[in-house]
Amino acid sequence: MTTLRLEGKVAIVTGAASGIGEAAARLFAANGATVVVADIQDRLGHEVVASIGPDKSIYVHCDVTDEEQVKAAVDHAVSAYGRLDIMYSNAGVLGSPFAGILDLDKQEMDRVMAVNVTGTAVAIKHAARAMVARGVRGSIVCTASVAAHQGGHGPAAYVASKHAVLGLVRAAAGELGQHGIRVNCVSPYGVATPMSSAASGLASEAVEGMFCAVANLKGVALRAGHVAEAALFLASEEAAYVSGHDLVVDGGNTAVYSALAQLMSSAGF
Ligand code: NAD
Repeated sequence: MTTLRLEGKVAIVTGAASGIGEAAARLFAANGATVVVADIQDRLGHEVVASIGPDKSIYVHCDVTDEEQVKAAVDHAVSAYGRLDIMYSNAGVLGSPFAGILDLDKQEMDRVMAVNVTGTAVAIKHAARAMVARGVRGSIVCTASVAAHQGGHGPAAYVASKHAVLGLVRAAAGELGQHGIRVNCVSPYGVATPMSSAASGLASEAVEGMFCAVANLKGVALRAGHVAEAALFLASEEAAYVSGHDLVVDGGNTAVYSALAQLMSSAGF
């Protein structure tokens, strides 16, 4: 008999109309959860719900830069399904891909911080409030990035924002532990999604090839589904005592000085 790892759970996934969030919404639903697909891309969001099945999911328009919309998405989950067990705060933007620190655009930085940092903070806040009010020992998962650990994985504003996501996760894990609520994040290496394709102007195969060329782990390309599996683990009871953790999904990239490792390997060491 197959055990469904999120049987009976109610989950919100932000940024679920596309890429990693879409893969997570599908995987959570396949594992028994009822999923609130939250995004600003309404047509794509409705398509995700139609293919998951309207009995297992619902779409809500939710711009995470608007706290009222985040609160409304949480209220919607609670009023429609009675509770909230899982918040996967995944929505994020890269920002202008080629804006270096010397040409930093303050408005653009504010936008990236508003989505990636403040959007994550209010998602944690309202999910945790709903969980605490109903005595739910829930799980909150956020999408950080390898850019939470190293520079060079994106523009300065993006790197700063992802370091901040990691800080938020650790702070929230500290505050919410007393309520039995776990808070963790996943930190993916480069994945070919609409975000990375739009940034590079390349088709997804070319983006994936680029990431693979400089990856530490060879023979496998990181896909949105791999990241979704890591988020599923953190969301599930299998991670019952895991909190304040950042699960890197990067094939060892942040653990290994890969430029030197590849040089040594090509030199026959
Ligand atoms: P994506 O563009 O495919 O998906 C991001 C989703 O977030 C989109 O559906 C978009 O509409 C939504 N979104 C953007 N702004 C929003 C807002 N204000 N409110 C609600 N939703 C909003 O990109 P993705 O690669 O799947 O990115 C998902 C997460 O993964 C992001 O947090 C990103 O920073 C992170 N990440 C991506 C990569 C990568 O290489 N693709 C690597 C590490 C981390």
